[in-house]
Amino acid sequence: MVLTDKHYLGTLCKRGHDYRGTGNSLRYKKFRSCVRCSKQQHTKYVEDNQDTIIQYRQEYYQKNKAKILQKQNIYNKHYYQENKKDINEYQKFYRGQHNKGTDISMEDCLEVK
Ligand SMILES: [Zn+2]
Repeated sequence: MVLTDKHYLGTLCKRGHDYRGTGNSLRYKKFRSCVRCSKQQHTKYVEDNQDTIIQYRQEYYQKNKAKILQKQNIYNKHYYQENKKDINEYQKFYRGQHNKGTDISMEDCLEVK
């Protein structure tokens, strides 16, 4: 766990989560709650409510399927346009590592032949 601009060192929390022997707890600036307590609570919540969460996600997905897929599609296209060069370079590198000899770019893949 590291200090970022989202965290600060505050008073020791009630569970005594000491941050690297400083005698303080790492807390979220936004909520002022201890990071480790929050994580524990979240893990516990997820464990206790696994079925509810899965059901909620599925319902949310079903209700908003069109919207989600559209968003993803736009995002993917946008992301590809923005990062075309990097993606192609990465793919070339990746293929070079795993499948020596072939040199197909994303553009080649997108073209239906
Ligand atoms: Zn704590």
